[in-house]
Amino acid sequence: MRERFWEYFSLNELTPKEWEALCDGCARCCLQKLEDEDSGAVYYTSIACHLLNLEQCSCSDYPNRNRNVPNCVHLTLERAAEFDWLPATCGYRLAYNGEPLPGWHPLISGSRESVHDAGVSIRSFAMLESGEEDLQDYLLDDL
Ligand code: SF4
Ligand code: SF4
Repeated sequence: MRERFWEYFSLNELTPKEWEALCDGCARCCLQKLEDEDSGAVYYTSIACHLLNLEQCSCSDYPNRNRNVPNCVHLTLERAAEFDWLPATCGYRLAYNGEPLPGWHPLISGSRESVHDAGVSIRSFAMLESGEEDLQDYLLDDL
């Protein structure tokens, strides 16, 4: 990867490896969400997709994720303009908006653990979905 590529290149100039590295591994995008039909506002819950490995904060079946979870959104360059549904901390959203990556981002810290140490990942609070939950009961205030 090119040195500090996220500062010098736009999203459409990134290599596939650089694109993947923008993800901080927080798994916030794997939380279930509710959308206000009138305003389009997205509200996050503490319930995570059943395919998530919560300890690793990574998908347990990434290559087949759309077969098992049809509404799993692929974060591609073509969809960058829609990234405002992602959490404000998301590396793709920050890069798309020309904002700097935070110090806990693995590209800055040099460690995949820093996103957990900073309390940004969902590992410490999320629960895997069972399908029985009423998502209204699990809305988060701060995402
Ligand atoms: S919210 Fe963004 S940075 Fe976090 S896991 Fe999802 S894609 Fe990666
Ligand atoms: S299928 Fe995998 S990548 Fe998609 S939301 Fe679920 S855990 Fe996340």
